[in-house]
Parts: sequence; C-alpha cells; structure tokens
Amino acid sequence: MSLSIHGVGMTSQRTRDRLIKILRQQNIKDEKVLSVLAAMPRHLFVDEALASRAYENISLPIGHGQTISQPYMVAKMTELLIDGEEINRVLEVGTGSGYQTAILSKLVGQVFSVERIQPLLNNARKKFRQLKLNNVLTRYSDGGWGWPEKAPFDAIIVTAAPEELPMSLLEQLIDGGRLIIPMGKRGEQELLFFKRVGNKFHKKTLEKVSFVPLLKGRSG
Ligand code: SAH
Repeated sequence: MSLSIHGVGMTSQRTRDRLIKILRQQNIKDEKVLSVLAAMPRHLFVDEALASRAYENISLPIGHGQTISQPYMVAKMTELLIDGEEINRVLEVGTGSGYQTAILSKLVGQVFSVERIQPLLNNARKKFRQLKLNNVLTRYSDGGWGWPEKAPFDAIIVTAAPEELPMSLLEQLIDGGRLIIPMGKRGEQELLFFKRVGNKFHKKTLEKVSFVPLLKGRSG
C-alpha cells in the first residue's frame, strides 16, 4: 500500500477540510458526521490514479461500472439515518468501495454490508482491515433480499436505486427503524425515507438523486 492514511498535498487534511466547508454550505449540520468525514481517508477508497480528486465533492468510478458516492450524498444519507440518535445495527446494501460503510462504522454499533460484485467486496474488505474497522461484517450476495439471518436492523441504507421498493428490506426493520433508499429509473430517481411504526411505514420523499441501479442476483 503506497498511499498513506494521513495523505499529503491533494489528500492532506487541509484539502479534506475544504470539502467539509463545502458540505456545511450544502446544509450538512450534524457535527459528528462532519468530523467523521473530515477524518476519513477517502483517497484510499479510490484507485491511486484518482487519489488527487478524492476530496472533490463528486462521485468517482471504482471499476465494474460502479461509483463511490459523492461526499455530499454520503453525509446527507448518514445524517438522515442517524438523526442524532444512538444507532446499534445498520444494514447497508451496496458496499461498493466501502467508503459509506467506513463512515457508518465510526458512528454506529455494527455495520452489516452486502455487495453483489465479488472483486469490489474484496477490495473494500482490505480497506476495513487496513483501517482496523472491526465492527463491519460483509456478505457477497444480492442485498435486495436484505440479510435475514442478521435482521432486524435499527436502520437500513441502500446505495443503489431499485425501480420498485424491496419489501423484504422494510420487513427487516425494528419498530421505529428507518430505511433510506434512492428509487426510480435513471434520470428520475428520488431519495426516500421510511420510518416503521408498528406494521405501518411512514414515507417521506426527499431530494432528486442519481445512483447506479440496484441489480438482481450476484455478478459472476
Ligand atoms: N456506498 C458505495 C456505493 C457504491 S455504488 C460507495 O460509496 O462506494 C452501489 C453499489 O451497489 C455497487 O457496488 C453495486 O455493485 C452494488 N449493488 C447493486 N445492486 C446490488 C444488490 N442487489 N445487492 C448488493 N449490492 C448491489
């Protein structure tokens, strides 16, 4: 591993702090979330050739047609998911680079993360080991079915967009639990927030978003 965790030049703390300033301007308010983003070496989650762009507020390619989410979107979804509360068990669907997983691991008790592309998952696992994130458990699987053996979860975050709501995810929430999920066809997606109250689900539609599609089955 030739890139250091602390970083220099375009990956230095000063560059990271500039990103945090932009996130504040975009109305991210949770100080805990902002400080975890400021400390997380995002440049380790992208290819070395892209490391100098890691602290720009953009999504970047991670191979296999997938992307590492935009820092603003990671901050926004994390803020919504935590909502100032103590959260214990979180399911993430779409590990990808592992960046969102790593952010969550610093803020909640345990993260369960599912990915359908094996090489991406292997890469992400290496990062979790390198950063000593011991509260992350991952699985190579189609996360549209959730992770029934580990359910129920306090919160579920989905980082790829289905066209229809996967009901199995709602079923795997505790009472009071919440689901954050982008949904819709490419170019017409919206970020949705569901809160479980008994066997009812309260839905809120948030902003327009752009995510890769949630696909069925495992690749390869
Ligand atoms: N949170 C990630 C986002 C990666 S993009 C990051 O910041 O890096 C979304 C990821 O969801 C991709 O890696 C894609 O392979 C994965 N994905 C798509 N459909 C899936 C499914 N049904 N189950 C699990 N993962 C899925």
